[in-house]
Amino acid sequence: LTSGTLTSGPKVVEFEKAFAAQHGAKHGVATSNGTTALMAAMMAHGIGPGDEVIIPSFSFFATASCVLSVGARPVFADIYPDTFNMNPAAAEAVITPRTKAIMPVHLYGQPAEMPAFEALCQKHGLVLLEDSAQAHLAAIGDRHVGTWGTASFSFYPTKNMTTTEGGMVLTNDDEIARKLRMIRAQGMNTQYYHEVVGYNFRMTDMAAAIGLVQMGRLPQWTCDRVGNATLFNSKLESVRTPVNRDGYTHVYHQYTVRVPDGVDREAVTKRLNERGIGVRVYYPLPIHRQPVFQNMGGYDKLDLPETEKATAQVFSLPVHPALTDEEKQYIIEEVNASC
Ligand SMILES: *Cc1c(COP(=O)(O)O)cnc(C)c1O
Repeated sequence: LTSGTLTSGPKVVEFEKAFAAQHGAKHGVATSNGTTALMAAMMAHGIGPGDEVIIPSFSFFATASCVLSVGARPVFADIYPDTFNMNPAAAEAVITPRTKAIMPVHLYGQPAEMPAFEALCQKHGLVLLEDSAQAHLAAIGDRHVGTWGTASFSFYPTKNMTTTEGGMVLTNDDEIARKLRMIRAQGMNTQYYHEVVGYNFRMTDMAAAIGLVQMGRLPQWTCDRVGNATLFNSKLESVRTPVNRDGYTHVYHQYTVRVPDGVDREAVTKRLNERGIGVRVYYPLPIHRQPVFQNMGGYDKLDLPETEKATAQVFSLPVHPALTDEEKQYIIEEVNASC
């Protein structure tokens, strides 16, 4: 505040460099939120009317709204029942001559199967994007998310780290980074000379200053989340616990379990909430079944059985770093007594 720079300034540049380096990416372009990060990524790759983008339907709505916002068509592919992430074979099955990009989501903090998506995009000449909004520091082996494709992150307060509102796009591509910077700031390269149609997607220096402190704490917070999840995995008996692929670092943005077949999820979550445990359902309705899609043509006949089944069975338990030992014990006992 005393620096006098209230909008984008040196703190934003410092945060972009530090966050990109933390993930092993070449460029970071900070934005006003995760949704504008996704929109900027779509625009930087020239995705627009007539193009199709393959995404999962089991995600937060912004995964699809960014595609619609540039006039392109979201094409939904089904998920794996164990990791909840988009299945590359299902994605390949819906590729058409209009397909321009594939954007897996690292849902709940577990990386999607990026080596398979990378191979798929190379084979078909497609752009690879990542919705990394829930997956700060998630990795496959020693390679972090955000380094396979043009990757958008969110720093909304519920995410693993925050800048209040905020987002960032990571890319290894110099030209895409240049375009992202223009799109973020009114399409300008030189002040008051507008090369493309851009917007105001800027992050403030105040948000970036918060982000710099938060990202320093992120490694420890991530360890704490993984530790909490490991404890729950070993003690929960009445629900199906998350499946973590070998060699994948799941950062547990959410710790999401499934009720067994035949068990009423609503009864279980109601009871746990009444017992003081903040359980939530992410997400109760697949994106392609949202009211806004019903008049768009073609989505009503779409059959995504694993997505439908997951939306009816999942719920998420608190897994955040501030949980005390007593709280964790209470959660374990109550969940085991609940179904
Ligand atoms: C949070 C989130 C977004 C949007 O980020 P905001 O910062 O809230 O705009 C996009 N995709 C996914 C998967 C998210 O979880």
